[in-house]
This record gives sequence, C-alpha cells and structure tokens, in this order.
Amino acid sequence: LRNEVQELKGNIRVFCRVRPTLEGELDQKANIIFPDAEADKKEITVQGPEQVSSLGKVSTTNHAFNFDRSFGPSSQNAEVFEEISQLVQSALDGYNVCIFCYGQTGAGKTFTMSSSDGMIPRAVEQIYTSAQALEEKGWSYTMKGQFVEIYNETINDLLGKAEELDKKKHEIRHDMQRCKTTITDITEVPLDTPETMESLMQRAQKNRSVAATKANERSSRSHCVFILNLVGVNAVTGERSEGVLNLVDLAGSERLALSGAEGQRLKETQSINKSLSCLGDVIAALGQGKEGGHVPYRNSKLSYLLQFSLSGNSKTLMFVMVSPLQAHLQDTLSSLKFAKKVNNT
Ligand code: ADP
Ligand code: MG
Repeated sequence: LRNEVQELKGNIRVFCRVRPTLEGELDQKANIIFPDAEADKKEITVQGPEQVSSLGKVSTTNHAFNFDRSFGPSSQNAEVFEEISQLVQSALDGYNVCIFCYGQTGAGKTFTMSSSDGMIPRAVEQIYTSAQALEEKGWSYTMKGQFVEIYNETINDLLGKAEELDKKKHEIRHDMQRCKTTITDITEVPLDTPETMESLMQRAQKNRSVAATKANERSSRSHCVFILNLVGVNAVTGERSEGVLNLVDLAGSERLALSGAEGQRLKETQSINKSLSCLGDVIAALGQGKEGGHVPYRNSKLSYLLQFSLSGNSKTLMFVMVSPLQAHLQDTLSSLKFAKKVNNT
C-alpha cells in the first residue's frame, strides 16, 4: 500500500473545530461566525466585544483566522475523521504520525479525540480494516497499544494496575540509532481484535477517574497519549514497515493564573504552561526546517516522548478546539493565536 502522500509544508497541519453551544448555554452570546466557512472551509472569524464610541456608535473588531481546515459547530466526528483518515493510514505505511487536540477545558478535545465515537476508536477501526485488506498483498501487521498520562511532568501508565498509578516510575528511553522510543515498565497491549480496543479504552478511563478523585479535574490538567505501534512484514516481497500513531488529548490551555496558586495547583499550572509552550516551540522549530539545528525537545516530557514522532519520517496535525461563546473570547483568541504560530511557520 502506497497511499497518496500529502506533501505539506513542514508536514504540519492545523485544523480548527468549533464546538456547538450546549444545552444550558443557549442564552449566552456567541462570538464565532462562519461567513464563508462552508464555502472555503478554512476561515473562521471571531467577533470581539462590542465597543461604544463617545457618539454612541456600536462597533466590534473581527479577528479572522485561516487554517488548513475549519469545522463549524454542526460538524460530526465522522466528517472530521474523513479529513484525517489518510494521515492515519500513513502510519501503516511506516510513518510516525502525531495528532494533537489543543484548547481550553470544555472546548471539545475529549469529545473529538477519546470519546466512544472519537478519533481514537475510529483510527483503530480503520487500521484494522486496512491491515486486513493488506493481507491479500502479503502483509501481516502486529499492533500494540499504550495509553499514558503525563501529569506534572511525570509519566503514568493508564493501562497498568490502578494501585500502581502514581507509584511506579517510568522513564523515556531513546534509541538514537533506530529512532525508537520506549517507556520503561509500561503496559503494552496487543490489539488483535476491535474488541480489545474497547476494553483498553475502558481500562484507561477507569484509571483516569481513579486518579481524578485524588486530584480534582485531573484529566483536564494532564496530557493523555495513546500510542499505537504498527509493525508490518510482507512475506511476498520481504518488505518491512514500522510506523507509530500517537493520538494526544492535551491538558487544558486556559490561561492559568500563577498568582494565588500554591502547592499542588502551582506545580500543575507551571507544568502545563511549560509543556504546552514547549510543544509550540518544537513544532514551530520543525516547521521552519530547523530539524538539523536546535529543537528544544528536552524541555518537556511530552515533546521528549514524541521526539521521533515529530521529526524525520513524521507527519503532524494539530486540532485547535474552541468554544463558540463570547464568555470564552480571551481563551479562544489565545488558542487560535497559538495554532496560527504553529501553522504559519
Ligand atoms: P475538553 O476535553 O476540551 O475539556 P470536552 O470534549 O469534554 O472538552 O467537551 C465539553 C462538553 O462539550 C462535553 O459535554 C462534550 O460532550 C460537549 N461537546 C464538545 N464538542 C462537541 C461537539 N462537537 N458536538 C457536541 N457536543 C460537544
Ligand atoms: Mg477533556
């Protein structure tokens, strides 16, 4: 299988998705408009707050953003997946693929990525189906999944035993020769059937909620990474392909005030701010073609873990998720600016 490889600048793309107004928010003012979005499916416009001049004239400032693709509030997960299915497919071809969801808490990251009809189960299902079809051409694939959480710059095994969750230490090991990454003592589950995936997601979910009772809303303050390792061997041609698909549900990007925060909260806030800005720096550096030069992978656990999946033989996509509400204007604008920085390099 040699699917049409989409040649992209720096191999980094950004998609934007606006979630719908939810029940209970219906009386709130929206600030995102889609003038021609359905026409070109790229642009979104954010309307600033109303300003009244001394003469009583009301005006607003609009901020327009262009991405590789923008999805409006009525978009469905199926439609979103359609746009990433080629990218998912390239992991079977031996590429390292990273797909991130970035945005403030409540903007739709988990809905898009990890819900039961989100990108993770859809990607796994497509890979199963494609791998089966490839058997005819002599390919046989082994697929193994890992689910990790990065919380306060510490790696936790979401598929491990619940009682070991915050106790077991995990280190990232890079094999520089083979460009391979391993995490010490991490649970790796063979994905032989689609059903395995379901139980795996449930196990991860359960572990996350166990942790959540200890530290409130921990899931929005940690990064969650699903890693799918795909090794294909062709008995007919002798070819071999090794690809990785990383699907990442990032910690909430909302501006977290350092003032007033102390103890655990301060540590969480610093970890999130640092790792998200580091991710932006890494992607920006790679987008500028600085691969041979200095790329600050080591500045955070997340970028260090994904080093080989962001550089070299890799493809990256970032979803920036935003809320449609006026009340979230500041966080929406800062998410979109972050995404623009990642995209425009
Ligand atoms: P995040 O993970 O970014 O904090 P969630 O994915 O949990 O946000 O979404 C917040 C709420 O909005 C959830 O109740 C979710 O079901 C709902 N939601 C998010 N995106 C959509 C969407 N595209 N369509 C319908 N509901 C959505
Ligand atoms: Mg979430």
